[in-house]
Amino acid sequence: MTTSLPTITLNDGHTIPQLGFGVFKVEPTETTRIVTDALEVGYRHIDTAAVYGNEEGVGQALASSGIDRSDLFITTKLWNDKQGTQSALDAFDESLEKLGLDYVDLYLIHWPAPANDRFVESWKTLQTIRETGRARSIGVSNFLVPHLERLLTETEVVPAVNQIELHPAYQQAEVTAFAREHGIHIEAWGPLGQGKYPLLEEGVVTTAAEAHGKTAAQVIIRWHLQTGNIVFPKSNSRARMAENFDVFDFELSNTELATISALERGGRVSAHPSEVN
Ligand code: NAD
Repeated sequence: MTTSLPTITLNDGHTIPQLGFGVFKVEPTETTRIVTDALEVGYRHIDTAAVYGNEEGVGQALASSGIDRSDLFITTKLWNDKQGTQSALDAFDESLEKLGLDYVDLYLIHWPAPANDRFVESWKTLQTIRETGRARSIGVSNFLVPHLERLLTETEVVPAVNQIELHPAYQQAEVTAFAREHGIHIEAWGPLGQGKYPLLEEGVVTTAAEAHGKTAAQVIIRWHLQTGNIVFPKSNSRARMAENFDVFDFELSNTELATISALERGGRVSAHPSEVN
């Protein structure tokens, strides 16, 4: 099953399945069941975070799945209040223990938290963690161009990814162009707009869906994949997990991609990265 998943090669040579499953707002008590469903559907890439409070449930699902560790791609994230060298190391150890793993595939700084002005120091700590092999790849999340510029000028290691809010109505052209120019892959969080934008009802999306005999959500996911984004849509429903995974038997035309891209309206649904501290 995993062989059919397209992969992207990161700037450190590791590969990541382009489509995964995210567990933001998945209740800790439900996480093992939901991640087990996702693994059974065929997902092999799971995106969690310390602050989601559900790393243990993810770990239990991984352990009971019987899937080879080498076939899985697991991401978790460092929360803002765990900055500073020792606390970042402690936070990482805690995440690894909760996940029941001896390494993660990708470890991210969750938000730059610029008011603390510690993200460069945290980034250096992530480099140390990577050197021990306990995080294969390291990256950032919710970083804007000035934050990325500081990492590039003050440290030696370019993040493998920047995970940002991104969907057709909010494409973040500036940070995306900067990232691509520097070999940083874009992970699009909230790929379906978190249900806060009427993306699935947009005429250009439903027209493309009808043309291909697919659903609106599948069209949006396909738009991400063909645009080069790494995505991990979230759903608690196994039927929707399967729907979101069933996106490899059709292709959007360049015209369809362009009309969907024209849905850009330039407004985020989340907090501004300079305000999360
Ligand atoms: P999403 O865009 O994946 O939207 C999830 C919503 O879409 C859910 O309410 C779900 O019911 C609905 N949905 C899912 N599949 C559907 C379908 N086929 N048809 C109709 N509705 C459907 O939003 P998200 O969960 O916020 O983002 C995905 C992942 O990104 C998260 O789970 C998390 O892993 C990550 N994320 C990261 C950050 C960050 O700060 N780094 C922030 C938010 C999310």
